[in-house]
Amino acid sequence: MKIDEGNIEKSLQRGGQKSESDITEILARARKLEGLEADDVAALCNISDPELLGELFRAARDVKAEIYGHRLVLFTPLYVSNLCKNDCAYCAFRSSNRGLNRRALSMEEIASETAALVDEGHKRILLVAGEAYPRDGFDYILRAIDTVYSVKRGSGEIRRVNVNVAPLEEADFKRLKEHDIGTYQIFQETYHRETYSKVHLRGAKTDYDWRLQAMDRAISAGIDDVGIGVLFGLADWRFELLALHQHIRHLEKEFGFGPHTISVPRLEPATGADLASNPPNPVSDLAFRKIVAILRLMVPYTGIIMSTRETADIRRETFALGVSQISAGSRTNPGAYSASDKHTAEQFSLGDVRSLDEVVADVARLGYIPSFCTGCYRLGRTGADFMDLAKPGDIKAHCAPNGLSSFLEYLMDYAQPETQEAGMLSIANALETMDPEPRRRAQVMLEKIRAGRRDVFC
Ligand code: SAM
Ligand code: SF4
Repeated sequence: MKIDEGNIEKSLQRGGQKSESDITEILARARKLEGLEADDVAALCNISDPELLGELFRAARDVKAEIYGHRLVLFTPLYVSNLCKNDCAYCAFRSSNRGLNRRALSMEEIASETAALVDEGHKRILLVAGEAYPRDGFDYILRAIDTVYSVKRGSGEIRRVNVNVAPLEEADFKRLKEHDIGTYQIFQETYHRETYSKVHLRGAKTDYDWRLQAMDRAISAGIDDVGIGVLFGLADWRFELLALHQHIRHLEKEFGFGPHTISVPRLEPATGADLASNPPNPVSDLAFRKIVAILRLMVPYTGIIMSTRETADIRRETFALGVSQISAGSRTNPGAYSASDKHTAEQFSLGDVRSLDEVVADVARLGYIPSFCTGCYRLGRTGADFMDLAKPGDIKAHCAPNGLSSFLEYLMDYAQPETQEAGMLSIANALETMDPEPRRRAQVMLEKIRAGRRDVFC
């Protein structure tokens, strides 16, 4: 895998020369859910005319609604360690930040953190760590995953552990796979080689190519559910979108399927990392909305993840434009969920610090169905199998009922009374707009949940 920077520059030049009617034609094609070519992406990046922008956002909204309906999948990160040998100029965990209180949670602490998350109603977590492990090396991460899965609280448990840890050798990816992870996620941060070397100052992460090849190694090792991303604010966002396009098309060509998710973190202030407060290429809120909309059209079947780095307002705006997964109730310092001090030694500051229940109520009032579903991964619908179902639209027949049953489970077991009220209403509204067969299936599943069954999915 190589990023061809020359081709990106050429696409951006050609994109700048597209007429209004070219853009309209690109958007019409995008509405057919066939994705976009590099020059199309470049052309959409260059839109500034308010009317064309409106058309771009409308197309993205329609594609989002067509493929994902009202569902928004919810998860939360679990930071197990902030030990790190790298020196990334934007991150509070960087090795040169000597003032940071460093710790790797013990297995008992990880179990306590997990219990706190399960008691809030979470079913999906993203396990996160810096790139340095305690004495047992990478086995620490494997034991952490097993610990999370081992915690049971009545009928509550974490049913899917996604992982964001530094790139591994193929043999370690195989071991990761054996521990039943959901998605393996890693962000290139920036695909722009020169910028990459300016902001990664020491440690293994200075190797751009080792990181870029990570997904090839992961998939070759049998992990067919991978997530990629860019840390926006480092290099020109238009360059990054075209590089993402190249990365995705490479994976599709090589393995027959692309990433399951794309994450779109924007740089947030971080202690001991001045660059984070002064991004070299700041991304405005308008550009950020364009990024989400263009990605939605570029890869209609790939999930887009929005984290709590963003404020509640920005998050709300981007749900309609294409976001399909959000984190909620997040903390980015190891030990924060079960401790009283929620903010010491954070990786970066959060834009949205609301609890899971507050986010669920808000999202439900906006007309979405917060989904805690983990069905696909547990039934082996991943990688090429997932895409085979997703592309003809068949996956909706599973996702919509599964989203509703996992949401009702949350409402009955964990929600505050006002959240329950808002949630029940949004379930009733969603049922009304469903096709007869998935609705029938959803009603059967909801009845089982009402009768006390848990973890019902199809
Ligand atoms: N240490 C591993 C790595 O760097 O790939 C994995 C975990 S790292 C804690 C997760 C992600 O946090 C990074 O990939 C980066 O994109 C993001 N991040 C770091 N500093 C950030 C900041 N100041 N604002 C927003 N996101 C940041
Ligand atoms: Fe370490 Fe990851 Fe932070 Fe870089 S981004 S300093 S590798 S935790």
